Amino acid sequence: MSATTLDWLVVGGGIHGVHLTVQLLSQAGVEADRIRILDPAPRLLESWRRRSRNTGMRFLRSPAVHHLDVDPWGLLSFAGANRRGRGAAKGLFASPYERPSVALFAKHCQKVIDDYGLSKLHIQDKASKIELGCDHALVHLESGASLQVNRVVLAMGGGPTRWPAWARALKEQGHRVQHVFEANSVLRPNSWPKRVAVIGGGISAAQVALRFADGEHEVHLFSRHELEKQQFDSDSGWVGPKNMRRFTETQDLAERRAMIQKARHTGSLPPDVYRELRAAIRAGKVHWHLGELQASGSEDGIALTVNGHSTGVDAVLLATGFESARPGGDLIDSLIEDHALPCAACGYPVVNSHLQWHPAVLVTGPLAELTLGPVSRNIVGARRAAECIVAVGRTG
Ligand SMILES: Cc1cc2nc3c(=O)[nH]c(=O)nc-3n(C[C@H](O)[C@H](O)[C@H](O)COP(=O)(O)OP(=O)(O)OC[C@H]3O[C@@H](n4cnc5c(N)ncnc54)[C@H](O)[C@@H]3O)c2cc1C
Repeated sequence: MSATTLDWLVVGGGIHGVHLTVQLLSQAGVEADRIRILDPAPRLLESWRRRSRNTGMRFLRSPAVHHLDVDPWGLLSFAGANRRGRGAAKGLFASPYERPSVALFAKHCQKVIDDYGLSKLHIQDKASKIELGCDHALVHLESGASLQVNRVVLAMGGGPTRWPAWARALKEQGHRVQHVFEANSVLRPNSWPKRVAVIGGGISAAQVALRFADGEHEVHLFSRHELEKQQFDSDSGWVGPKNMRRFTETQDLAERRAMIQKARHTGSLPPDVYRELRAAIRAGKVHWHLGELQASGSEDGIALTVNGHSTGVDAVLLATGFESARPGGDLIDSLIEDHALPCAACGYPVVNSHLQWHPAVLVTGPLAELTLGPVSRNIVGARRAAECIVAVGRTG
């Protein structure tokens, strides 16, 4: 079967893939018939929708200027607001920083998809192998088809969900254990038994615990660390030169990795979610357990023990985030092995300032972390990545 030929293939139709495609079409003059977005989901942004719905989050953690269209003020004007967020209908933004509601953000995403005709560019399939020539890539798809492209951008998001060993063991014994970000699973509290344990101490754990604290469930939140309040998941200085200058000047990639780890407020809560959770704990709607836990399962259910105190639950919901190892699985592992692509000691790609890993391969999201720093995975990271990649698009 002969391969279809394209200028650009964006692998991944999530936040990063969609924004990058918008920028390539509108800022780099890429023709719509020369670019495609590859994603196995039936719709673009499916994994974002599912994850935000599953947590029950109501507002984004990031400000209104971080969205998928080109003009940073586009989301505010879409909502009928001025640059300070004033003028919009009540409930569309949370302060501080005019953080958009999930519903508003979703509507704006759909407008962006419609305005740029992105659904027509979506190929519903999955990349299974990538072969590289000196100036092109041959992308093999799970369906058996293949695409020959001048440039492929890897926008495949983060790695697999993180499962503690005890949770896997309980699931293997037949107990109900699920990760809140499990692929293809929609979380419906009314289909869950009464006594539910939520595992984790960060924003998603708090939001899920609050979602289940609906009067129908007995909710137990198990956290290994104290609840930590932080507005963003890394300080806003990482969005611009304030912190990024030193990062970019640092040549040692192990040091850059250490800077990223230190900068990330992993497992933290923005003040509004912190307040809401504290109030629910005080009201007895969420029972909070602090410390390392031990788990055991029996015919009667699951026993979770912290500091010698045992709690019986019927089901466990993990809000333990994602594995931190390099994402991309076999696809990326074999790409590196077959073509000797450079990686740092942490396993992540070493790319140039245009996020090029090879003349025909570019990266965004987590894979661009050693160049874009701690915000790389976020919406603003998608915007920064697009700025770097669009320059390549302009050169044809
Ligand atoms: C609950 C939650 C809330 C968040 N809130 C915010 C926030 O408020 N602000 C912020 O800035 N960031 C936030 N983030 C972080 C980040 O913006 C999101 O995780 C975002 O979805 C990342 O986008 P992505 O495109 O990198 O990955 P994803 O959204 O995961 O998309 C990756 C896509 O790649 C596809 N894919 C994977 N492998 C292949 C393959 N081999 N072939 C084809 N397609 C493939 C997948 O199907 C998927 O659709 C949040 C994250 C979570 C989980």
